[in-house]
Amino acid sequence: MLGEDSPVVFVFGCIADNQSLFIQESMMDSDEHALRQQIMEIGRRLWKKGFVAANDGNISVRISDQEILTTPTGVSKGFMTPDMIIKMDMDGNIVIPHGTHRPSSEVKMHIEVYRQREDVRSVVHAHPPFCTSFAVAGIPLDKCVLPEAVLTLGAVPIAPYGTPSTTEIPESITPLIRNSDAVLLANHGALTLGADLMSAYYKMETLEHSAGIIHKAIQLGHVDVIPPEAVKKLMDLRRTLNLTGRVNPCFGKGSYTGTEQEQTLTPGKQGENRPDSDHSELKAPLK
Ligand SMILES: [Zn+2]
Repeated sequence: MLGEDSPVVFVFGCIADNQSLFIQESMMDSDEHALRQQIMEIGRRLWKKGFVAANDGNISVRISDQEILTTPTGVSKGFMTPDMIIKMDMDGNIVIPHGTHRPSSEVKMHIEVYRQREDVRSVVHAHPPFCTSFAVAGIPLDKCVLPEAVLTLGAVPIAPYGTPSTTEIPESITPLIRNSDAVLLANHGALTLGADLMSAYYKMETLEHSAGIIHKAIQLGHVDVIPPEAVKKLMDLRRTLNLTGRVNPCFGKGSYTGTEQEQTLTPGKQGENRPDSDHSELKAPLK
């Protein structure tokens, strides 16, 4: 959030150094070019949907064991061009210096994900308003409310607050991303992981859509959750469909507006999951 992707510099065209652009493009294979285009398109969607403000947010994709492509700092993600995308190694070094573009300091968070999860090829970070509101309120999205969210996200925890650009955020997400493809960042935003760029992006869409509906239902005064037996069917379906990624099972009981004290809107300790359900069959990590 603060300090991230600043100073505010909007760049609407190609990089100033045309020679660098030529060198970069000539060294780029068609797959890498396609991934740059895809990052640009996802950035445009994040901005258009209001998931990011100003120069916020970042996107990355792993292109080999040692290299990633990531978005530049100081640029609105709605107005990127493919040449702005930066190639880095897993130690955070820029592979081919070009132009004036630099990666976001938040790329540390992305690299930590790739270190922890060999199955993840892409990471999307944004500040969608509903997700971020739950993260600010300290309320994890850990109830089974919508089938699509149960299937693709499961119970979404909140990582403790960390200062942007330091190692605090990578450290705060480490235990949570090992078994979840979606994490809220306290007082900050959200992070989603995927087997490819679109998968990571669509999880961000699903997360924000789900958070928005739950928020509205809370305002209506009641949130019904999906019964445990039906949740188990969804988990079976997840295995049958051989869905990629990892989800924490949601608890299968209680509600955001329930009568049980621990299931009310009283926020839990940051980054901590809520009490488990009685249904032990739903506790096992799902892959
Ligand atoms: Zn951020």
